[in-house]
Amino acid sequence: MCMKSTHRLAAAALWLAVAPSDPLPLAAGTALAYYSGGGSFSPDMDLSLGIGHRGKTHLLEIPLALGVLAAVMALPGLPLYWVPFSLAVGWGSHLLLDIFSGRRGIPSKILRCRLTVPDWLWIHTDGWFERMILFPVFLATAGALAALRVFLICLEVQ
Ligand SMILES: [Zn+2]
Repeated sequence: MCMKSTHRLAAAALWLAVAPSDPLPLAAGTALAYYSGGGSFSPDMDLSLGIGHRGKTHLLEIPLALGVLAAVMALPGLPLYWVPFSLAVGWGSHLLLDIFSGRRGIPSKILRCRLTVPDWLWIHTDGWFERMILFPVFLATAGALAALRVFLICLEVQ
């Protein structure tokens, strides 16, 4: 588990990289990805619910199902497809970081295993790598992508 702020910035950066170019999904989707990437509306809601950490809320299948829902909504052109899409990005980015932090990794019902990486690849929560590398990189990436996306929207408007 990374710090909440690292999870949230990673989710926002990822959403800003893949989001549709319309202003509403770009802005509101960033908020949804940000809050579903870390904190009490993310997979870590299990910490406050007391249902065992890295259990059902950390299932790989949750962001996959959200992604499928987004695709099913996007195909006929439903306008709010970006809602489950942004939630899939936020939730999925959280799980991706959790794969790299600790022996428990994340569970998968389909694969019938827990996904994790060897010990030497672990990101230690609030350790030097997270504080000095990951957090600044995600912060810079999210900031640069936000500025770029807003700039591109301004170019389209003119
Ligand atoms: Zn987690």
